[in-house]
Amino acid sequence: MAIEIEPLFTLIGEAVVYFAAFLLIIAIIGSILIGYSFKTEKFIFPGFMLFSITLLENLVKALFRLIKMDDSIVDNVGITLKNKISLRKFRNTPINERMIFFPQCLRAITCPSKLSPEGMQCIYCGACEVGRAKKTAEMLGYKVFIVPGSSFIRRLVRKHKPSAILGVGCMTEIKAGLEMCEKIQVFSVGMVLDKAGCVSTVLDWDKFYEFIQKD
Ligand code: SF4
Repeated sequence: MAIEIEPLFTLIGEAVVYFAAFLLIIAIIGSILIGYSFKTEKFIFPGFMLFSITLLENLVKALFRLIKMDDSIVDNVGITLKNKISLRKFRNTPINERMIFFPQCLRAITCPSKLSPEGMQCIYCGACEVGRAKKTAEMLGYKVFIVPGSSFIRRLVRKHKPSAILGVGCMTEIKAGLEMCEKIQVFSVGMVLDKAGCVSTVLDWDKFYEFIQKD
């Protein structure tokens, strides 16, 4: 029996068009919800939003750019949602099983610390807030590291095997860090810097202290 090629191609073509339209509708609804959540800080249908960000990130960001909106809002909402999902598990983890990672760019430009296999070795010189924050967190029971990059984080996580992680960094680092933690099944929360960059970055320290002391 001869196979009818033409109707088959038509069928496949129609299926592709319907599927593309379906994805576009999901991306549009996801974008509207993300924009609304960002503006109002009310996160409705968080599962759907996370689904659209995970599956259709590039398309959702393209829609934001199309209407001249900042596409970093998508990352911002994605991080907030992931933080909300992990927060309870993070808090339920004993403090001595939690790790904190600071990026080295938070240090003072004059920082005298030396690099070691455990990251930058703070000598608590007082030139920046990182030293005080590290000391405070360690007194609470956290393991705290100041790291120059993600390769350090991976190595330190392999070595110390934390059950939960609080990562501080720019939006891109936090996004990558949360994805890494999802893969290795470690509960993680990200705290985004108020001002990113290579040096002299800024963190909302009040928010940091409040977060580590709350349980
Ligand atoms: S407090 Fe620590 S991290 Fe900050 S500048 Fe001094 S040695 Fe560097």
